[in-house]
Amino acid sequence: LNHATLRAMAAADSDVWPAIDRAAHLRKDIDALEADLRAEGSLLLPVWRDQSLIDGERLAALDLARARALLDVGGELVWLGKLGAAGCFALDVSALPEPLQHPALAQRGEFKDLRFVGGALPAEQAAVALYARGILYWHRRHAHCGACGGTTAAREGGHVRVCRAEACATQHFPRTDPAVIVLVHDGDDCLLGRQRTWPKTMYSTLAGFVEPGETLEQAVAREVEEESGVRVAVDDVRYFRSQPWPFPSSLMVGFTARAQGRELRASDELEDARWFSRAQLRDPRAHGFYVPGRFSLAGQLIEAFLAQP
Ligand SMILES: [Zn+2]
Repeated sequence: LNHATLRAMAAADSDVWPAIDRAAHLRKDIDALEADLRAEGSLLLPVWRDQSLIDGERLAALDLARARALLDVGGELVWLGKLGAAGCFALDVSALPEPLQHPALAQRGEFKDLRFVGGALPAEQAAVALYARGILYWHRRHAHCGACGGTTAAREGGHVRVCRAEACATQHFPRTDPAVIVLVHDGDDCLLGRQRTWPKTMYSTLAGFVEPGETLEQAVAREVEEESGVRVAVDDVRYFRSQPWPFPSSLMVGFTARAQGRELRASDELEDARWFSRAQLRDPRAHGFYVPGRFSLAGQLIEAFLAQP
C-alpha cells in the first residue's frame, strides 16, 4: 500500500470523505481502469435493487481486494472515479436473493433506500451513493437499444452503452430527467400542496417534469398553474439551487417565484394546495401538517423562505 492509498482508505473509513473526482478523462483509458480493478485500496460500493449499503449512519465502502468474489455475481460494474487516491467502483448485486448472506457483505451493514436514510449521511457520502444508485438504475433499464431493440453493452467504465448491432452501433448515455421544484411566495405566505399518494398531512413545494421545447422558467409557470391555478410570471422565476434526485433518475432544479394572485383552483394532480404563513411553517406540527426535511430541495426551499426577514 502506498501512502496516498492509505490516506484514501483512512478517509473512506472516517465519516469525512473527499468529494468524488469523476476524472472523466480516464474513462476511455482501459489500462487505468484495470489498474484500479487490481489495486490494493480500491473501493467498491454495492447497490442491491436500488438500495445502498449503509453501516449505521455511514455509507459502507468495501475494500475491493477483499470483496472481489462479488464481481462474480454478474451485475454491472461502473468505475465512478477517484475517492482520494483510490479508484471507486459501484457494483449492482441485485442478482443475489439474500445479499447479506454473501461473505463479502455479511456484517457490513444493511441495504437501505437513500430516500429515507440519505439525510443522515455525511454530504460527500450521500453524493457518491446517489451517483452509484442513479447510474446502476440506468444500466438496468438500458440493456436494449432504443433505436433498434438490439442488446447493448457498457463501455468507458460504464459511462456509455453501445448497441451491439453493427449496423446500428448507437451510443446511449446515462439519462437524467430535469424536473422543476418551486416555492411560490406572496408576502409572508408560500404555496404548498400534497399528492394523494403522500403520507397523510405532508405538504411540499410544487414540482413537475420539464417537457420538450420548454425552458425551466416556462416549466415552473406551467406546473404552478396546472397544479394550483396560481399564475406566476416567467420573468419572476428565480433560480435557487439544484439537487440530483435519482429516484429513479431526476435532477431537481429549484426555484422561487412570486405569485401574481392568491386564488387557488382544484386540480387533478394535487389532492390539496394551500397558502401557509411563516408562523405556521415554523411549527407545522402544531398546525396539523409536516413538510420534507433538509435532505430534499423542498425542505431547503422552505428553510430559505423562513430565513428571510
Ligand atoms: Zn441499436
